[in-house]
Amino acid sequence: MVDMDTGDFTPPPRLDCAKVAIFLDFDGTLVDIAPTPDAVKVPADIGDMLTRLEAACNGALAIVSGRSLSELEQFLDGFDGLMVGSHGSEARGMAPPMDAIPAGLADAQSEIRAYADDNGLLYEHKTHGGAVHFRTRPEAGPAARAFMDDLTRRYTGFAVQPAKMAFELRPDGFSKDGALALLSQLPQFAGRAPVYLGDDSTDEPALLWAQAHDGYGIKIGDGASGASHHLDTPEDVLAWLRAGLETKA
Ligand SMILES: [Mg+2]
Repeated sequence: MVDMDTGDFTPPPRLDCAKVAIFLDFDGTLVDIAPTPDAVKVPADIGDMLTRLEAACNGALAIVSGRSLSELEQFLDGFDGLMVGSHGSEARGMAPPMDAIPAGLADAQSEIRAYADDNGLLYEHKTHGGAVHFRTRPEAGPAARAFMDDLTRRYTGFAVQPAKMAFELRPDGFSKDGALALLSQLPQFAGRAPVYLGDDSTDEPALLWAQAHDGYGIKIGDGASGASHHLDTPEDVLAWLRAGLETKA
């Protein structure tokens, strides 16, 4: 938890939908982290809430996640707006960020799946890569990292993305801050201050990007962060977003 005593918990200002562009991570930001990736509990009205929020911001809202786009679409059913998945390498509602899928993708995915199976770990299939989760066996983390690093030496065009109790192989050269830079070129984002919300180390570059472009970053939960603001839980995020909608109304 963020230590309240040290004073580094700075709540965000009230959301002003008329002035900001909203970029939202998914896991750990809109929904609580679950024991397995497919076990997340999504609030029933989230699609509707995001749709209203997007309208209030004149379309300047996007989901930016490490998840595959197809999973985001499933979880956020009812929301038809912009989405960037796979850490920035696939997108909905804008031009595809990636020109060509790296050669060897299927072989690398098979290797990760086999490694996970052999070591009693969970394999997560990704559109452009794959992840091995060690939440059930934390002691297996270092070996999993070494295995993934070895994959990047044998398959070119990939990088290892550390996440919460997981390591993921993903196309090299994509990132959430890169996604924000691309999204911001869309006309509906012009003249708006970027606000990014995220919980993970993968969100840090995007939090800093928002702050470097006259906006602000909101770190969700505990852990070191360069974000200017904090919220404790996804529940707090949803309450903050809803409060912004009420201001608009
Ligand atoms: Mg997250």
